[in-house]
Amino acid sequence: MKDHLTKEFDVSEVIWDSAKGGAVGAVAGALPDVLEPPASPNHRGFFHSAPFLAALVFAATLLFGRSKTAPLGLLFSFLVGYGSHLLADGNTPQGLPS
Ligand SMILES: [Zn+2]
Repeated sequence: MKDHLTKEFDVSEVIWDSAKGGAVGAVAGALPDVLEPPASPNHRGFFHSAPFLAALVFAATLLFGRSKTAPLGLLFSFLVGYGSHLLADGNTPQGLPS
């Protein structure tokens, strides 16, 4: 039987894991503008592109897809945070680079 099915529910662990996921997601959500600071209207480049996000997902899947010890929840939070930045930027008139 899988560990998460036999483990007792611990609300403090859920809160702590959620806080960690939120923090990682928030940092990842800001990362595209850290890598390519919005100093000019045309700052969005490679790190703001869907191909880069796809490469991140691909690399994460290759590196951690079969891992039993990797913090997959935090990795997922990172990818969702990064992707949410691109989704938000993509819905502006300037959009994302292709
Ligand atoms: Zn941006």
